Amino acid sequence: MSEFVKVTEIFGENVFNDTVMQERLPKKVYARLKSIIQEGGELDLATADVIAHEMKEWAIEKGATHFTHWFQPLTGVTAEKHDSFITAPLPSGKVLMSFSGKELIKGEPDASSFPSGGLRATFEARGYTAWDCTSPAFVRQDAAGATLCIPTAFCSYKGEALDQKTPLLRSMQAINRESLRLLRLFGNTTSTKVTPSVGPEQEYFLVDAEKFLKRKDLIYTGRTLFGAPPAKGQEMDDHYFGTIRQRIASFMKDVNIELWKLGVTAKTQHNEVAPAQHELAPIYAEANVAVDHNHLVMQVLKRVACQHGMKCLLHEKPFAGVNGSGKHNNWSITTNDGINLLDPGKTPHENMQFLLVLSCIIKAVDEHAGLLRESAADPGNDHRLGANEAPPAIISIFLGEQLQDVVEQLVSTGQATRSKTGGVLKTGVDSIPGVAKDATDRNRTSPFAFTGNKFEFRMVGSRDSIAEPNVVLNTIVAEAFAEACEKLEKADDFNVALHDIIKDNLIDHQRIIFNGNGYSDEWVAEAERRGLPNIRSMVDAIPELTSEKSVAMFERFGVFTKAELESRSEVKYENYSKTINIEAKTMINIAGKQIIPAMVSYTKELAETVIALKEAGVADVSVQSDLLAKVNALLRETQTAQNKLIEADSKAVDMPEGMQQARYYHDVIVPAMEALRAPVDQLEVIVDKNVWPMPSYGDLVYEV
Ligand code: ADP
Ligand code: MG
Repeated sequence: MSEFVKVTEIFGENVFNDTVMQERLPKKVYARLKSIIQEGGELDLATADVIAHEMKEWAIEKGATHFTHWFQPLTGVTAEKHDSFITAPLPSGKVLMSFSGKELIKGEPDASSFPSGGLRATFEARGYTAWDCTSPAFVRQDAAGATLCIPTAFCSYKGEALDQKTPLLRSMQAINRESLRLLRLFGNTTSTKVTPSVGPEQEYFLVDAEKFLKRKDLIYTGRTLFGAPPAKGQEMDDHYFGTIRQRIASFMKDVNIELWKLGVTAKTQHNEVAPAQHELAPIYAEANVAVDHNHLVMQVLKRVACQHGMKCLLHEKPFAGVNGSGKHNNWSITTNDGINLLDPGKTPHENMQFLLVLSCIIKAVDEHAGLLRESAADPGNDHRLGANEAPPAIISIFLGEQLQDVVEQLVSTGQATRSKTGGVLKTGVDSIPGVAKDATDRNRTSPFAFTGNKFEFRMVGSRDSIAEPNVVLNTIVAEAFAEACEKLEKADDFNVALHDIIKDNLIDHQRIIFNGNGYSDEWVAEAERRGLPNIRSMVDAIPELTSEKSVAMFERFGVFTKAELESRSEVKYENYSKTINIEAKTMINIAGKQIIPAMVSYTKELAETVIALKEAGVADVSVQSDLLAKVNALLRETQTAQNKLIEADSKAVDMPEGMQQARYYHDVIVPAMEALRAPVDQLEVIVDKNVWPMPSYGDLVYEV
């Protein structure tokens, strides 16, 4: 039996949370910090010094020797530079441990080595990390000992955002402002803050570390670039929610303990649809904390997997033909006194505030569908979105039966007079008590689904930061709220104006609502008729960022300047090109160094067998010679495709960087990679397993 985990005792033990602050900080300092966390404001250096000192003392008690400003540059992962607490030696030769307020609130990493998309030249290297006190500091214990991690925003000398956190915090201000404005119009005088809540469900794969290390593609690119499907895939549906095997269970236990200590509310865990695929979801938190925590989740999954002799694959599509991984971004907006603006109540048709909020979200998503799609674009996600997999690349909204019915009433008559109810679930078994049903069933194929009191945005990639989708959601909804408020504030008759806005929003934007099967071909055709964008790749999506509409909106709400958006689009094109380039080079390498040599030896062996058999007087050697001919033909095809890929890839480096180069990678290199993969995967199916130079899909997903 494994040891007993005292969850309530370990939860948050490595977090400088409210309890610790209250215990440790002088009353006045605590009050000042608390007010900044809640309402914003400047922190004076004297107060910062006191906080830094207490934070250091607390961290040292947890074994910390170093501190770091932990930030989220545009690399997709977090960054950190460690400084120990030691001071210069005293005359006695001893050192002290020190940490000043200045060190707490500001850091200065060399910004020139992080992607900035041309926002600044290399000689202007100054970048600052600034303490984000709304996300608590924590101590991370690992092989490096223990490190005090301070969540920070990362900006250039001129204050331009170079990270994911800064725009997220700006977008949270925007939605706070516009939501409060809207609430006041409905007579709410008590709520003083509105925050987006986010609960990301994280999917991942686990594979055996030894096998992983035999696959150069997994090592360099995080996904398999070759690989024939195993005899058994996911067709039996026996993995989803299946019993968790002991090796995985022991891994999950350690992941939970690590996360709980870090104050991450790891809540749900289960096997996912594909073999070797799993999911972890925390309880939702404020968007900013949720983003930070999701990074911690990804890091802990990877670290703990290594400790268990496994590797955690966060790539969106590690295996062709097997379900990929995503991150469902559950999103709602809540006041500081506990009102969820997305809660329809029992009778949504009477809840005018909810109907306005809902109609604004529908309008926002329809108007900015392309931008929302872009927010989930990354090179790995191109293998999921629009590639016969969940969810489709077309943004649509699922409302469910109850709300759909209310919307239809409003659109057709301008009035909604009733709401459907769920009723009681009848199982036909007398001994099972009746259970109240939700008013609405679920829909798993919709990219943007209403699920009771939140929307679930299902497009986000498993490896990607969830910051960007939330920046977009917060800002587009803030814009729709602002437009509604402008009309309502000017209205002579509030109720009439309110009705008109809801009705207009719904009539103008109902095309985005779709309750059917989002995976079907009919939907693709229907969406086209409705004029909904179907953006199939990251390269096609990036221009959405800098469209006139997007720039105007982001500038209006102070989330991004035009220059920041342009820089981000540069970074994205660059990221796409680099990713595909690494994949192409890895394929060339594997084909040239592993597959072709193995097949050359294998054909030699077959040829020798044919000769030996003939010499021994065996009349029928057709099986052996057929195989030899087939392998040889595929080997020829492999080499031709490899040469084409080498040639195409060598041209890419001379292309002008940015959109043109990314397009070339997408239009020319990706198909050339597919052309190389095809004969290799066919070879894998027909040749002896013993001569295949790397573990197969079957080995990877069934032998963990
Ligand atoms: P599933 O979709 O897998 O059935 P749930 O929808 O119950 O699971 O929960 C998924 C995630 O949504 C969890 O992280 C949960 O905390 C989060 N969540 C639940 N309610 C809200 C809410 N009001 N706002 C944001 N996230 C929420
Ligand atoms: Mg869910």
